[in-house]
Amino acid sequence: MLECHDDAEQGITRLSTRATTTPEEPDREFVYHVDRNDIVAYCDLAWLRFAQNNAAPELDIPHVVGHRIWEFIATAETQTLYQLLMTKARAEQKPVSVSFRCDGPTCRRLMRLSIAPLSDDGLTFTSHLVEEEPRPYVALLDPAASRAEVYIKMCSWCKQVFVEGRGWLEVEDAAEAMQLFLQAHLPQITHAICEPCYSGAMAALE
Ligand SMILES: [Zn+2]
Repeated sequence: MLECHDDAEQGITRLSTRATTTPEEPDREFVYHVDRNDIVAYCDLAWLRFAQNNAAPELDIPHVVGHRIWEFIATAETQTLYQLLMTKARAEQKPVSVSFRCDGPTCRRLMRLSIAPLSDDGLTFTSHLVEEEPRPYVALLDPAASRAEVYIKMCSWCKQVFVEGRGWLEVEDAAEAMQLFLQAHLPQITHAICEPCYSGAMAALE
């Protein structure tokens, strides 16, 4: 994946209405390849549209293809997990899969990422949209909302938010606990990995 957050509802709507010639739900799968040096060699249009409608409206093929995958993965911990998964897929010559959340301000999404080896030591990344459900608007996940110079920690994989004294909470519960509804400006989000997601990803390596 690219780090995947923010307002994606629109993307899904557009993807699902585009004309298609294949019978199986093409709008639910997003694919890119990296070569043996982890440079993006290919990304499909579904993936590009999804990325444009979520985290990076300015993204186009020249900004992706030819660039190392690490430019698009935000935190050191997430990079490490990706490295472990990619090493395993290459070493064992079989796919590894992990689940992650890719929420927007008005929806929750569960995605499944599969990393599969290619014959030339490259890898195919396929993200499959497992489930999507609407929810009331959450300003914290809206990239257009104004922000204060205050930071909160969000898990890149499950999108839960860390609240001091409470632990990792779903974003609505975190907003309530931190009384974000009463503040003029929302905090900025920094990305991390919570302990259960870290353990889950490590389990995929066993
Ligand atoms: Zn998590």
